[in-house]
Amino acid sequence: MEGPSPERKSWPPDEDKRGLECRYCGCKHFRVIYTGRGWGSLHVRRRECRHCGKRMTTWERRVGTG
Ligand SMILES: [Zn+2]
Repeated sequence: MEGPSPERKSWPPDEDKRGLECRYCGCKHFRVIYTGRGWGSLHVRRRECRHCGKRMTTWERRVGTG
């Protein structure tokens, strides 16, 4: 018997994933150019793609013993 579908708490929609990909060129190598506090337990990171140089902001949740 299957339970209810698991609730996906994916608030930062697609940027909370472990394997971040550049949405412009698809590469996975980023340089972190800024790290700061978001709100709550979220951290904000500014990343720059090493391949195409596009910048994007990612939100990361603090996990573990915090
Ligand atoms: Zn890129």
